[in-house]
Amino acid sequence: MNSTVVTPHLAGADPAPRILRNGRSGLYRTYLLFGAPGSGKGTQGKALGMVPSFFYCACGDVFRSIDTRTKIGQAFIQYSSRGELVPDEISIELWKESISGHVETHRFKPELDALLLDGIPRDLKQAELMESLIEVVKVFHLSCPDRCTLVERLKRRALKDNRLDDANEAVIHKRLETYEIETKPVLGYYGSALIHKIDATQSPARVLWEILRVITGQG
Ligand code: ADP
Repeated sequence: MNSTVVTPHLAGADPAPRILRNGRSGLYRTYLLFGAPGSGKGTQGKALGMVPSFFYCACGDVFRSIDTRTKIGQAFIQYSSRGELVPDEISIELWKESISGHVETHRFKPELDALLLDGIPRDLKQAELMESLIEVVKVFHLSCPDRCTLVERLKRRALKDNRLDDANEAVIHKRLETYEIETKPVLGYYGSALIHKIDATQSPARVLWEILRVITGQG
């Protein structure tokens, strides 16, 4: 699989190919779902991914689908069970491979579909490494300043989804700290013009409605 090939694409519903930022072409037209663990990115991504012309990709799911008997699968367990990020180069390579696979099998059609990313880029280095691959059109920041709400949501998810990384409170707190220190600066990388902040404590339907308003040009 050639993970470096990025297929040129047209913008969502636009009839003509878009002139992309920096005059470059061949970038995936991308919406980022951004927020702390437990902020609801996956819930929104799965719902939006059901809409034709959107392709949802959660980086955590990419990692979780790796055979845990492999070296890389073991590395994922090691980092995620400590609430730490998997090293950047590995993360980006895996993500690229996964996306290329979806392009090859036509599940993701970059010339027609917009990409909805969840969990990547997760730090500044990843944002830089992805600069030549994605054109970020909007960052949906699912904001939840109340950490207690997030901790409660993650604990509930741990029971439901059998997630190692949500299994104990110490790991949850480490993940929230990793988010604050390593992930949150990514917002500054893209800048306020691209960011749409949404109160993540609202109902999932309300959050979805706000995202759709923006995507459809009514927000
Ligand atoms: P959440 O949705 O709760 O934020 P994810 O399912 O996205 O959690 O990720 C689970 C774990 O997978 C992370 O804590 C981290 O160890 C690893 N991971 C996911 N995405 C990345 C990434 N882009 N870079 C490095 N590690 C990642």
